[in-house]
Amino acid sequence: MIVVLKIGSPEAEIQQVAEAVKKFGYEPKLIRGVERTVIACVGDERGHHTLESLIVLPQVESVTPVQKKYKLVSRQYQPHDTIIDVAGAQIGGKTFHVVAGPCSVEDTAQTVETAKAVKAAGATLFRGGAFKPRTSPYDFQGLGKPALEILKEARRITGLPIVTEVMGPQDVELVASYADVLQIGARNAQNVPLLAAAAASGKPILLKRGISGLVDEWLLAAEYIFVHGNHRVILCERGIRTFEHACRNTLDLSAVAVAKKETHLPVFVDPSHAAGRADMIIPLARAAVAVGADGLLVEVHPDPATALSDGGQQLKPAQFQQLMDELRPIVKAMGRQLVVG
Ligand code: PEP
Ligand code: MN
Repeated sequence: MIVVLKIGSPEAEIQQVAEAVKKFGYEPKLIRGVERTVIACVGDERGHHTLESLIVLPQVESVTPVQKKYKLVSRQYQPHDTIIDVAGAQIGGKTFHVVAGPCSVEDTAQTVETAKAVKAAGATLFRGGAFKPRTSPYDFQGLGKPALEILKEARRITGLPIVTEVMGPQDVELVASYADVLQIGARNAQNVPLLAAAAASGKPILLKRGISGLVDEWLLAAEYIFVHGNHRVILCERGIRTFEHACRNTLDLSAVAVAKKETHLPVFVDPSHAAGRADMIIPLARAAVAVGADGLLVEVHPDPATALSDGGQQLKPAQFQQLMDELRPIVKAMGRQLVVG
């Protein structure tokens, strides 16, 4: 932390701040300029109380942290890429994976048909929502437990591991007993009890960025999962809310580049929820590969026009096949290996 004192602060007031800094467990180093004094506070900002409250002292101009709040997920802590084993699939490093499936599990036929189609096109994991975090309480909320049974059947038939969302701590045990990866959705990105409960399940976690979440907040959510003993986290950028409404959200490719630099975790991109429209999925997916993402999460439905949720953004199986075909040379150009199911 750097504490800047107001111009012309008398010596007694400077010493008062230095004493307060010591009480918080830091060593104050006074830097005396011509007009003002700056106090560099030496110590681990994560291990001590925050000094930000010193701003209430009348002689203090500003208090600025110099250290990032996350640690375990940072590249400083672990320089090499984390590779996460999901039921035998190795995610991260030089690989590129595509996770695909319907927004919602609607029935067995729709789910199994989609699972077979995405597997044939090369997806390595199957996604499908059993519990749906819908904006409106009048919209389809997901089938719940029966959908988990359907996902299990899709896994039995195709062999693809299952990614599905868990919405509350009370559902973690149930969902984790079916899922290979627990998805934490954008609306729950900072739900600390859920992050803790999901971490405790021991399952790998696909952590979406919040709808208006800062990259720091996203990485701190991942840090929560680490602190609760689970190191298998896949980050997923899914578009953020901005002033622009041409697409449902704005895909923040900068955040992907920043996350790749800041952390050792795999970073996926979900072009479906970013775009909210099927015709933008392939261009955004291409860009995601080029910016350095480790994988994609894509919504696919056999008949999007009849989908019970997110119909406008779901690809038909043939469009998904086209996406996979278009990705292949880009993934190769990026020095990655497209892993196919
Ligand atoms: C989803 O994956 O279907 C979903 C609801 O995503 P998000 O949490 O990103 O809105
Ligand atoms: Mn969806």
